[in-house]
Amino acid sequence: MSGPSGAGKSTIVKNLAKLVPRLVVSVSATTRKPRSNEIDGVDYFFLSEQAFREKIEKKEFLEWAKVHGNLYGTLISTVNENLMRGRDVILEIDVQGALQVKEKMPDSVLIFVEPPGFEELAKRLKRRSTEDRRSLEVRLENARYELAARRYYNYRVVNDKLERAVEEIAEIIEKERNG
Ligand code: 5GP
Repeated sequence: MSGPSGAGKSTIVKNLAKLVPRLVVSVSATTRKPRSNEIDGVDYFFLSEQAFREKIEKKEFLEWAKVHGNLYGTLISTVNENLMRGRDVILEIDVQGALQVKEKMPDSVLIFVEPPGFEELAKRLKRRSTEDRRSLEVRLENARYELAARRYYNYRVVNDKLERAVEEIAEIIEKERNG
């Protein structure tokens, strides 16, 4: 699942995991500094740039990308452990990463979550106190790029109402599981 920053992906993913059985959210690795409410190993595996680059060298990532100036990646081990236990894994990752996953795992399903409009997205981002001005501009720029990449996705879901978006994605998962 991808979508611009501020589209509500994290909230959707958390609610989905509660609603849909046998679905787990993959914990990514990142070189970004933790925010005050984030826990290592729960929200992300927070790594130094050196540790992250070592994992790239050792080919431990299913995908990785530089997003908003930091490195983010999905560990192969995280995904495989869950798949082997009969669970489906949801990755909340950027467009560059999603295209790498599609390439390596063609059966994966790409879902793009978008805000009702770019104006709305900009407003949401501005309301967020966690981002400083420069970082906000980078995120907005990136959002434009991500919106342009929607065409590569199997599904597009507009997050105008949280419960409806969650319900819609739960139905997509059910359909894909049965198909
Ligand atoms: P944030 O720093 O706000 O938690 O995440 C910033 C962006 O990084 C989001 O668009 C998120 O989807 C993306 N991201 C998070 N984890 C990964 C990952 O493992 N791989 C890739 N490619 N992007 C990720």
